[in-house]
Amino acid sequence: MAYVITQACLDVKERACVSVCPVDCIYEGDESDRMLFIHPEQCINCGACEMECPHFAIYSEEDVPEKLRAFVTIQRLFFEEPAKAREELNRLYPRSSCGVL
Ligand code: SF4
Repeated sequence: MAYVITQACLDVKERACVSVCPVDCIYEGDESDRMLFIHPEQCINCGACEMECPHFAIYSEEDVPEKLRAFVTIQRLFFEEPAKAREELNRLYPRSSCGVL
């Protein structure tokens, strides 16, 4: 079990969680990534990030609400096949087309 970052981080990336993680297991692949991800094997389940996130984006895996469960899979996939994780994220949560006609 690990903690999981969910939808509220998407296109926000406040990064408050990063500085409190004692094992530095919160990652951003590159600047184009739309959110941060917690490494599921490196996370020691301390819960510090959950309390720090001002957007309430982080849950312990067993507490991720049903409507956000896709993020459990996407997070794991990000560390195995990042391109597929990005694809899945964009499929489920398309980028806003604001300003584009
Ligand atoms: Fe890092 Fe603790 Fe959050 Fe896991 S639960 S990502 S170890 S701060």
